[in-house]
Amino acid sequence: MMRILFLYLLPLSTTTGFGFSPRNSLVRLSSLASTATATATTTATSTSTSSPIAIIGGGPAGLCTAIALAQQGKKVILFDKQPTPLDPNDSEIWGDTAKFYLIGLGARGQKALDQFGVWEGQNGVKSYCQEVIGRKDWSPQGGEEGVERIFTDRPYKTMVLPREKLVGVLYKHITTNFSEDQIELKFGVDAAVDLEQEQEQEQESTILCNGEKFNASFVVASDGAARDVAKSISSSRKSAMRVVKYKDDNKRIYKTLPIKFPKESWRGDINYSSRTADGRVNFDALPANSNNEYCGILLLKEDDPLSGPDTSPFELRELLDKSLPQFSPLVDDATVAAVAKKDVSNLPSFRYVKNSLSWRNIVVLGDAAHCVKPYFGLGANSALEDVTFLSAIMENNRLSPNEMASEFSRQRAGEAKALVQISRELDRPGALGFFSFVLPLILDGLFHNVMPRIIMPNVIAMLQRTDYDFRGVRRRKRQDR
Ligand SMILES: Cc1cc2nc3c(=O)[nH]c(=O)nc-3n(C[C@H](O)[C@H](O)[C@H](O)COP(=O)(O)OP(=O)(O)OC[C@H]3O[C@@H](n4cnc5c(N)ncnc54)[C@H](O)[C@@H]3O)c2cc1C
Repeated sequence: MMRILFLYLLPLSTTTGFGFSPRNSLVRLSSLASTATATATTTATSTSTSSPIAIIGGGPAGLCTAIALAQQGKKVILFDKQPTPLDPNDSEIWGDTAKFYLIGLGARGQKALDQFGVWEGQNGVKSYCQEVIGRKDWSPQGGEEGVERIFTDRPYKTMVLPREKLVGVLYKHITTNFSEDQIELKFGVDAAVDLEQEQEQEQESTILCNGEKFNASFVVASDGAARDVAKSISSSRKSAMRVVKYKDDNKRIYKTLPIKFPKESWRGDINYSSRTADGRVNFDALPANSNNEYCGILLLKEDDPLSGPDTSPFELRELLDKSLPQFSPLVDDATVAAVAKKDVSNLPSFRYVKNSLSWRNIVVLGDAAHCVKPYFGLGANSALEDVTFLSAIMENNRLSPNEMASEFSRQRAGEAKALVQISRELDRPGALGFFSFVLPLILDGLFHNVMPRIIMPNVIAMLQRTDYDFRGVRRRKRQDR
């Protein structure tokens, strides 16, 4: 049974997150965001005289939204509490390959960035990415050699870069191509929407930031997993908007681990991964540069003795030797000591904003609206996809700000919910995981192989396809079953 399971699971592996991946995914880049028709111009031609659009949160989604709206001639002001983004060209910053985690951009993310003209070209995001063309996986049942698979059936390749570098590239694009009159950037500041202000139906919003007030004709809350804007709208009970939190009953923490693979015997363009039979360790490494230097993510259970700062380097070495013998000799003692010493990071947990993604002229998008663990590589990809929908809606000048906000919610609230619910079903602990994740994957695989026109590939493969939205994936799999 375990052998069948292994043989089935192996080709599922993904290169867009650190979990499993699509197979046979015929991604058609003509997507469901057919309404998202904004063209990629690098500079805006006109600037409106009304109050700017405020964006709270300058992660990938917020910065991409700023670019998209400025291209429509709208004036934008963006606030982020982090310091000014890092220079993507500064090799000293990126020399430490385990300082920043890597994200894989699949079809959804690439398509969105391309739509706004920031994907291709000399300074495009793509030029800062490493290409991943396959995967080598060691699973408990797979033997010591591991199994390598080069993907030959995909119309796109996963492109990998640190989240911080993506932010740096988008920031650089803005400062190079737009004036401050078009996009005003305020980094290092905490911003909030003044919900106490009594609002008339179509009144502007007020943004509070460092004791100052800014009027905004429209507000985009792309404040990530903090989702302060959604939380305050939800707790003020001013709207039906509510944040759904799931208890994390399969909690993992992670530490990043730099690893350099010798070029003679290890490819530099595939995703290496391994997991142990006892479930203690899960390791996943993606290329950080073209020198075969990788950033590995060592996932451990929350209560593991090594899940903390200042742990024993000897115990960590012991664990690597025992659980990851193929990688351990490639990690020197100084690196093991540094990894044992460093603090752990938490994975995001499953959350979504339900009932409505809007209130008056405010919308919530990206991780602020739907947060998933990164196993399936959908967080940044779906956040960027949100931007294509908002951009298409906001191109329609006949709609008022409040109508635009409601329309965005109408198009995306169901998607936020479906993405989080589907992803969570794939992350259940113990026996639940077998019935909600492993078994359906096995059955999908078997039936899809026999009747490929009738039974679609497994749900993980389907989630990567841009010709299906997340609700469509769920409907289709229910239909299959
Ligand atoms: C280890 C790991 C691996 C991942 N791998 C992948 C992957 O392979 N593929 C993928 O698609 N996704 C991946 N993700 C997820 C991805 O990083 C997120 O989904 C993505 O960054 C979400 O973008 P965002 O702009 O919505 O939010 P964020 O990136 O979280 O940005 C939100 C911004 O809002 C700012 N902010 C918050 N509150 C305020 C405030 N009050 N005022 C001002 N600013 C504020 C924050 O400073 C932050 O810059 C991974 C995540 C992790 C942790």
